[in-house]
Amino acid sequence: MTSDSFNSAIERELVRPNWQLRFADEVEARFEYDTQPQRNRHMVVAGLIAALIYILFLINDYSFRPDEFWLSVLLRGLVVIPFGLPVLWAIYKGVSGAKREALMASTVVVAMVASCLIFISSKSPYSYLDIFSFGLILVVGNVLYSLRFSYALASSLISIAIMVCFVVGYEPMPIEIKRLAIFTLCAKAVFTLVANYRLEASERKAYLLLLRETHRAGHALRSNAELSKLSLTDSLTELANRRQFDTLFNQHWQQAVEEHATIGLMVIDIDCFKAYNDYYGHLQGDHCLKQVASTLHAHAGNACVVARFGGEEFVVLSMGQSHQAVLAQAEQLRQAVEALQLPHHGRTEPGNITISVGGAMLQPKVGVTASQLFRAADQALYEAKRQGRNRVVMINSLDALSGDGLGRSIQ
Ligand code: GH3
Ligand code: MG
Ligand code: MG
Repeated sequence: MTSDSFNSAIERELVRPNWQLRFADEVEARFEYDTQPQRNRHMVVAGLIAALIYILFLINDYSFRPDEFWLSVLLRGLVVIPFGLPVLWAIYKGVSGAKREALMASTVVVAMVASCLIFISSKSPYSYLDIFSFGLILVVGNVLYSLRFSYALASSLISIAIMVCFVVGYEPMPIEIKRLAIFTLCAKAVFTLVANYRLEASERKAYLLLLRETHRAGHALRSNAELSKLSLTDSLTELANRRQFDTLFNQHWQQAVEEHATIGLMVIDIDCFKAYNDYYGHLQGDHCLKQVASTLHAHAGNACVVARFGGEEFVVLSMGQSHQAVLAQAEQLRQAVEALQLPHHGRTEPGNITISVGGAMLQPKVGVTASQLFRAADQALYEAKRQGRNRVVMINSLDALSGDGLGRSIQ
């Protein structure tokens, strides 16, 4: 599912009737995925609290029905130890959302069955008053666990049905008290189910709003990243543009200063390109620029930056290379463009598209600036053009900066 269609799924959820709790499938799956770890933890903690209280009710059993106390110990122990604790362990380990809700709802039903068995086992006077505490079991499922509403509803209805079955056949209890007990349990079910429903509805609403904000923030970040990429890339050749080159050049210069590393720069210019445009037209000129750019990119070897500096000029930056290595790399680029064999019949001596490369390399030291390196490479390019184009001139930049002559030219 794309980001946009997920976004519209969230918007649809926000406007749909709010009595309906469950989200559409894809949002529901995300809801479950995002809330699962926290909900599992919550269930385990709530389950342990409920188990403790359930066991503590033995105090009550002891005072109300001492005749059947050991049966109470057995039944309460059976609910908590062989049933409740393994359920909590499974949830702690991680189960699907539906399984988690079903398992927790089943503890409510099992607790109700055990409580009813304890209840009918005794004939002690007043022991039936205990029945009024059974509503607590529903409070546990619907409020403490906060089961998803459908599970809360199902476990409440089943628990009420179980309680009714046991109470109806229980002789020692007067009919009026039976009625009151059933009515009280039903009323507790209604109250706690209303609370459960409202809790789930607001949890889901809060989740949707948060999800929408997270999505919007992600979208804005992506748009920003795309925009900044656009503003740093040359749209014709897709190489880094002048702006990006300026930044990277300064960064690499700084790095070379800090690491006492060498930094090499090539300024590359397509030969007689004006004549190419005049002869073949600007569209074909653009096409040629693209081909030269991708060839430079593909053959740049160890270079760290290849950028279009402007017009038909490119720059290539490399770090930590020797003078010989930069020279060899420049020559490799020149040959790669020549090997393209792009016809150029517009120049005075018809042939193919070629480039001239001016290179300079130095290890930054006090008093030398990045723009001096650039000027040196530019001077070398000028020299390459002067010597007849389609060649590499590497300048020993330090000599050049002190006004001393140009370095060796090859080709
Ligand atoms: P040289 O060998 O001395 O470099 O000669 P040149 O003709 O290449 O140099 P000049 O600077 O005179 O011409 C550069 C030409 O590059 C002029 C311009 O029409 C062309 N140019 C610059 N940018 C673009 C572009 O984006 N597309 C096209 N098609 N042509 C461009
Ligand atoms: Mg030029
Ligand atoms: Mg040119």
